[in-house]
Amino acid sequence: MKPPAFTHHPCRTVDEAVGLLDSASDDSKVISGGQSLVPMMNLRLANPAHLVDLNGIPGLDGIEVGDRTLTVGATARQHDVERSAHVTTAAPLLAAALKHVGHPQIRNRGTVVGSLCHADPAAEMPAVFLTLGGHVSAQSPSGTRTIAAEDFFDSYLTTALEPNEIATAVTFDTPNGSSGWYFEEVARRHGDFAIIGIVALLTLAGGVVSDARLTVFGGAATPVRIPAAEQLLVGVAAADVDADLLARAAAETSAALRPSDDIHASGDYRRHVAGVLTTRGLRTSLERAVAGS
Ligand SMILES: Cc1cc2nc3c(=O)[nH]c(=O)nc-3n(C[C@H](O)[C@H](O)[C@H](O)COP(=O)(O)OP(=O)(O)OC[C@H]3O[C@@H](n4cnc5c(N)ncnc54)[C@H](O)[C@@H]3O)c2cc1C
Repeated sequence: MKPPAFTHHPCRTVDEAVGLLDSASDDSKVISGGQSLVPMMNLRLANPAHLVDLNGIPGLDGIEVGDRTLTVGATARQHDVERSAHVTTAAPLLAAALKHVGHPQIRNRGTVVGSLCHADPAAEMPAVFLTLGGHVSAQSPSGTRTIAAEDFFDSYLTTALEPNEIATAVTFDTPNGSSGWYFEEVARRHGDFAIIGIVALLTLAGGVVSDARLTVFGGAATPVRIPAAEQLLVGVAAADVDADLLARAAAETSAALRPSDDIHASGDYRRHVAGVLTTRGLRTSLERAVAGS
């Protein structure tokens, strides 16, 4: 199927892109990799008259490591991020999760920032961003601002970005050496969107869990952290994290979710699997944290 007619605006600067977007923000869309937007246009689920194309803007495709941060520019391809030595060292969780985003052909074109802006609740990148923490850098005619990970996702396919705002980069906080992570999703086939998935990150200080983060995706309109499960772990010595504690964390995860039924799975199935993945994710994260500290 072909998309409806539109005008393509290849931009050379962010200011030009922001100006174009602002001039017709009700009827314009930013295009980065086009791997979500173009299928939606082909299916007539999106019908923008103007496409503001970021791909010709020099300097937007950087992948840079800072002090406990990793910054990925708006046009950096998922494939390049996945293969970057900076990423596999500073944020191996991000590299591992990217392997589940569609297929290599999709990742050759799709961008990490585009995936965050698209905000599909079953997508991998939003859940990784929420778990690692960090911020999106955004630019509009009013200037620049940053939006923290916990404030970025509003609802299904909806973010805190204004209609005339462009995300220029995402900065992930990167964990220290005493952290262990886990990523797993259940999907019908490798490369499909998740029916349900989990991201975990545990940090140890002196053999005690000092920080616990657990995010479920595919179970609500946005990825969600599970504070009740996280709090069970914080302050507990690694040696004291036993099957009973993990089972309690799993129960908290299942109880926190109200997923609906759809053609892929029932809400009850998603709740049950989220609990199973919680146990597995926390146990493996802890083992990795112990091995690294
Ligand atoms: C067959 C297939 C399978 C896929 N499987 C998966 C999967 O398993 N998991 C997954 O997460 N994704 C999957 N995708 C989607 C893919 O990962 C997309 O690349 C990603 O969701 C969006 O990135 P993009 O750069 O292509 O964004 P685009 O398609 O260009 O844009 C997506 C949306 O974000 C907005 N946007 C993009 N960039 C910006 C910006 N810098 N500032 C403001 N707004 C912006 C656009 O206006 C649009 O609304 C799949 C796609 C296909 C075609």
